[in-house]
Amino acid sequence: MSNSLPKSLKQVSFFLERLPGIGEKSANRLAFYLLRMPDEDLKDFSEQVAKLKAQTKRCKICMNLTEEELCGVCDDSARDGTRITVVEDVLDLLSLETGDIYDGMYHVLHGRIDPLNHIGPDDIFLEELFTRLKPKTNGHVTPSIVKEVILATNPDMEGEATAMYLRNRLQELKKEHSLEFTITRLGYGMPMGGNLEYADYMTLRKALENRRGF
Ligand SMILES: [Zn+2]
Repeated sequence: MSNSLPKSLKQVSFFLERLPGIGEKSANRLAFYLLRMPDEDLKDFSEQVAKLKAQTKRCKICMNLTEEELCGVCDDSARDGTRITVVEDVLDLLSLETGDIYDGMYHVLHGRIDPLNHIGPDDIFLEELFTRLKPKTNGHVTPSIVKEVILATNPDMEGEATAMYLRNRLQELKKEHSLEFTITRLGYGMPMGGNLEYADYMTLRKALENRRGF
């Protein structure tokens, strides 16, 4: 079918097919849909896509995506700064943000340790988390206010491995700097092999309530 399509339509369809969950048929259907969109909307859409990367950067505290220096969570002084939940991706953060189940802070790793795909500890944002937890030393020592680090990587093999690696590194950090925070892991509620991004908010709330020392 693709061979009988005009080249411009085929090009768009080719890009759409690279999106997750989109096969050739869906890609063609979406390309046709775009073609039928009102000119103004299509122009708007293509401009937004073009700007997407240039305007999005990482929050300088938690690595969440933002257009400002700080993301909406870090910029909100009403939130509980004594807790940091560590997630693999921004979509996991968004899941935890639905339904008012959590009002602490986050740290987004942008990935997980995955040796089979050559992703090691240095390829995700671990050091930035450690920096947040260490006492600040500009003139005098200011201890971190963090009382709990909640490991919310996914309950599958790579997520578990990442949580275990993090726990060991955090324990070293605690010893080295005499830090007081506890380390917890999301409790039952999350199905094994499940993904935070797809969990409903009741499941997430249970998982958060049942978090345990780790
Ligand atoms: Zn932030």
